[in-house]
Amino acid sequence: MNAADLTASLRAHFGFRDFRPGQREAVACLLAGQHAVVVMPTGAGKSLVYQLAALHRPGLTLVISPLIALMKDQVDGLLQRNIPATYINSTLDADEQAHRLGALGQGAYRLVYVSPERLRNAAFGEALRRTAVGLLAVDEAHCISQWGHDFRPDYLHIAAARGAMGDPLTVALTATATPQVQADIVRLLGLPSSQAIVTGFNRPNLAFEVRYTAEPAAKLAALQELLSGLDGGAAIVYVGTRRDAEEVADFVREVCGLRAEFYHAGLDAETRTRVQNAFLSHVPGTSGVPGTWRLAGRGDLRVVVATNAFGMGIDRPDVRLVAHFALPGTLEAYYQEAGRAGRDGLPARAVLLYSPKDRALQEWFIENDAPAADEVRGLYDAIRSAGKGQAWLSTEDLSLATGLPEVKLKVGLAQLEAAGSLQRLGDAGPRMLLRPGPWNAGAIEVAAANVEARRRHRRSQLAQMVAYAESNACRRRILLDHFGDHAAAEAPVCCDNCLQRRPQPGAPEGAESAAAPLS
Ligand code: ADP
Ligand code: MG
Repeated sequence: MNAADLTASLRAHFGFRDFRPGQREAVACLLAGQHAVVVMPTGAGKSLVYQLAALHRPGLTLVISPLIALMKDQVDGLLQRNIPATYINSTLDADEQAHRLGALGQGAYRLVYVSPERLRNAAFGEALRRTAVGLLAVDEAHCISQWGHDFRPDYLHIAAARGAMGDPLTVALTATATPQVQADIVRLLGLPSSQAIVTGFNRPNLAFEVRYTAEPAAKLAALQELLSGLDGGAAIVYVGTRRDAEEVADFVREVCGLRAEFYHAGLDAETRTRVQNAFLSHVPGTSGVPGTWRLAGRGDLRVVVATNAFGMGIDRPDVRLVAHFALPGTLEAYYQEAGRAGRDGLPARAVLLYSPKDRALQEWFIENDAPAADEVRGLYDAIRSAGKGQAWLSTEDLSLATGLPEVKLKVGLAQLEAAGSLQRLGDAGPRMLLRPGPWNAGAIEVAAANVEARRRHRRSQLAQMVAYAESNACRRRILLDHFGDHAAAEAPVCCDNCLQRRPQPGAPEGAESAAAPLS
């Protein structure tokens, strides 16, 4: 397919005039039968790469995404464009799932969206065996890497599932660009070779700022001031804990007088969806179609106070402020969260409210993200004593039996599986059919050493985040360098440090200006 044909197809099927940077190259790479790793910032238009390629590849395009809440939106957008697509996930009842599986087997869809957990589902695997997968798209692919900022053990199973599909052409997509994570993606998906397509990370309409706020009271005062300058748009305030999410949301409501909701992983799914939808506040099912955003009007939710559970895939265009009330664990996480501001291209602010004390919370997360060796043993023993040979268990059952939180359980199960001490034979709803094998002390020791290596890595990532907060150099330059993007760090309003260095009009050359506010 030549360049003109590809553009014609883009216009005919999606109504976009032109490709955005990197899109054409990525689609062309796939149509030439070459695996690709696509690294583009959030909002750059990664979905289009596999959606357009899907139309020109034989067979089914299977999209793996961890974002169940956003699948319906994506599928609705495709259906509106007369592209047959569906999703199969736990929000559907058993009848509907069976119906879609049947249609899948009959080749009714060009694209099907599933979560990585679904790949273990027996009925889904069965339907897939009767289907030729022409393209496998692994979205949010950084989740496969334990060096990424959102490691999800279920992603490690994709390579095996890919093998069962006959090693189809594969595209991995992510906004996390560090070379180490890219290499992990290629290795852990088992791609023999691949082309990397990495586009620019500069977001010229974002202004970066760090405010030194040693005490919580200073943070609240700074937040109040920032929100009072919002002037119509929306804001996301990221906090470090669930409790802070609730308390800061109260503050925004009561003291700042703005409608605000909190969002964290402790809320039930229904509440999370409600908050997310209230914040997105667009006409349902038309996401991505130009011109269908409603302007945020009275009564629409403008402020969400959230932990990092909120936001993957959030593309409300008029977010004017992303404020961090707590220090993120990595610059990747920070840039991804801050990048949810200014999707419409208009000026927006990314402000980190920094207290050196915040480091302690991140250090706690680092030390508690994986089970210790004796906790892995406890998990193994709990599974063994649950039944003869094998047992149906949910993470909740295991949590009750071992006292371990969900994060540690999931990592522990993955470690046991990798050590050959556990087989996960299949899932049904929240329960897993687990069959313990022989205990493998050596492999578990290796896993423990890996955990320690990962912790060292995360400590150094945290140190980079702290260095960003404490630096007096150009913050945009620090961020772009971190992602391996060495293009000029140009922007109309760059960052607090650059503003401070800029000579005041009329001042003699080389004179330092007083601290200039960003707004
Ligand atoms: P990402 O996954 O990279 O964060 P998305 O795939 O969700 O980004 O796309 C973000 C938005 O950009 C969507 O609303 C999409 O419809 C739009 N978009 C993608 N490609 C183009 C294009 N070539 N021209 C105009 N808009 C586009
Ligand atoms: Mg995306």
